[in-house]
Amino acid sequence: MELWYTEEHTPDVRFSIKVKKQIYSAKSPFQQIDIFDSDEFGRFFTLDGLMMVTEKDEFIYHDMIVHVPMATNPAIKRVLVIGGGDGGTVREMARYDSVERIDMVDIDEMVVDACRLHLPFTSCRLDDARVHLYFEDGLKFIRRFENSYDLIIVDSTDPFGPGEGLFTREFYGNCFKALSEDGILVNQHENPYYESYSHSMKRAHSRIKELFPVCRVYQAHIPTYPSGHWLFGFAAKRSDPLRDLDDSRWNSLGLDTKYYNTDLHRGAFALPNYVKRALDLIG
Ligand code: SAM
Repeated sequence: MELWYTEEHTPDVRFSIKVKKQIYSAKSPFQQIDIFDSDEFGRFFTLDGLMMVTEKDEFIYHDMIVHVPMATNPAIKRVLVIGGGDGGTVREMARYDSVERIDMVDIDEMVVDACRLHLPFTSCRLDDARVHLYFEDGLKFIRRFENSYDLIIVDSTDPFGPGEGLFTREFYGNCFKALSEDGILVNQHENPYYESYSHSMKRAHSRIKELFPVCRVYQAHIPTYPSGHWLFGFAAKRSDPLRDLDDSRWNSLGLDTKYYNTDLHRGAFALPNYVKRALDLIG
């Protein structure tokens, strides 16, 4: 008998992966957690039936969410990751010796425990001495900080269920307050292609734009996310991801990345016209 994982990308579109074995399944107080093994994508992890990470393509998402801000401002020392329970964002961040502290706040300790056990390829740096883990709602956690972080990465689920609060004006306003003068906020920004996702993307962008002087969007190709076309938001008080990128400075770090490079960094900010229109960047 064949076993398939199927995710509904829209009521009329489904995406399926043939599964070798289900490795883990549990319901936490916040969400349904499942981990599978497959031939094509290796191990993969879903929350409430939505794809979070696969062994084969996670490098794209984690490279883009970490190296774009880090190459823009090499002076980043204090980092906050909100969500990110699989550990992939922390793994990439921990490669920078210049980073002094990485706080990660995920609402769901069961996600982190399951990923530590079954997804060592992403969770492998969670025990780095600079990493501090907190298990609470990121929306509440951020309220108590002022001028405390140089970079906040929102590596969250979609804007419904536990992740909903991480797309609100209140949350973005508190991120602004928690950031230093050179601070950067990067968030996963949904996909522009399917209506329901693009609605969330537009709403997030317009809320962030009200607060941050620098507000841009960049893209990557992620095969297992809905439509395969994924966006990230880049917002900052001062730093500009194109003006401030110094290719030779980042390349001199000698980090061996599988997706990110400084040519791609520039190119990722060149958006298709239909996305620019959706974001009101052109008429
Ligand atoms: N790469 C993924 C994606 O975009 O599909 C995101 C992965 S990461 C596993 C998402 C994490 O966000 C989960 O571990 C979830 O528990 C966490 N999360 C959701 N809502 C949260 C909240 N309000 N505060 C903190 N963490 C939250």
